[in-house]
Amino acid sequence: MAEVLQLPKSMKFDSLDEERLYRKQRLAAGFRLFSKFGFDEGIAGHITARDPERLDHFWVNPFGTHFGHIRVSDLLLVNDKGDVVVGDKPVNTAAFAIHSQVHAARPDVIAAGHAHSIYGKSWSALGRLLDPITQDACAFYQDHGLFDDYTGVVIDVEEGKRIAHALGEYKAVILRNHGLLTVGHSVDEAVWWFITMERSCQAQILASSVATPVNIDPEMAKLTAGQVGSNLAGYFSFQPLFDRIVREQPDLLD
Ligand SMILES: [Zn+2]
Repeated sequence: MAEVLQLPKSMKFDSLDEERLYRKQRLAAGFRLFSKFGFDEGIAGHITARDPERLDHFWVNPFGTHFGHIRVSDLLLVNDKGDVVVGDKPVNTAAFAIHSQVHAARPDVIAAGHAHSIYGKSWSALGRLLDPITQDACAFYQDHGLFDDYTGVVIDVEEGKRIAHALGEYKAVILRNHGLLTVGHSVDEAVWWFITMERSCQAQILASSVATPVNIDPEMAKLTAGQVGSNLAGYFSFQPLFDRIVREQPDLLD
């Protein structure tokens, strides 16, 4: 699949304003999709998008607003100190503590997503990595880490640094007893990796509940990871979901 894909025209921008708006629209759509897939758990969860101009600032959801209600105009811009510089709502302390450190540690990352989704947090309680038991799960083969610790709600940037360290150069990290965190080179990618990782957790839980799943052998898992786990494959997989959610909920673009 990957070799026939090319970077779409919509990812090339004439101005920073245009690129910023693009990221914010994808981000608002990402929240609506998190809601649609049932990833909300009260006030938990955040997706961030790096600002294309102020590279140490990121756009994020306002604390306490339901994912399913977020519009482009609701998004907050937060600086590297945790101050809200655009928007009049507060930012979740955990969102700043985790995402500021992930964005700082990974200059290649445009976006990061985290939520307390049911299969992700169930799997996280096992304190182990996902196995390559399906084609889709191979997107994470040798490409996710485990934060093998739990010390309460993340309110300290030092804890965010440790999470960023566990993420390393991967596209995702399992936070033990907590949930999943994914990153991407576009908002599209980060949101898609979260959705498909949650479903890979679900698939492994379902398969394991019947019998011991058969792993795809390492050579094939590596080959498949290159096919379904590339940056472009992640971006491309998100596009039909974006089109669907904009058609269903066009107010997200307001
Ligand atoms: Zn959390």
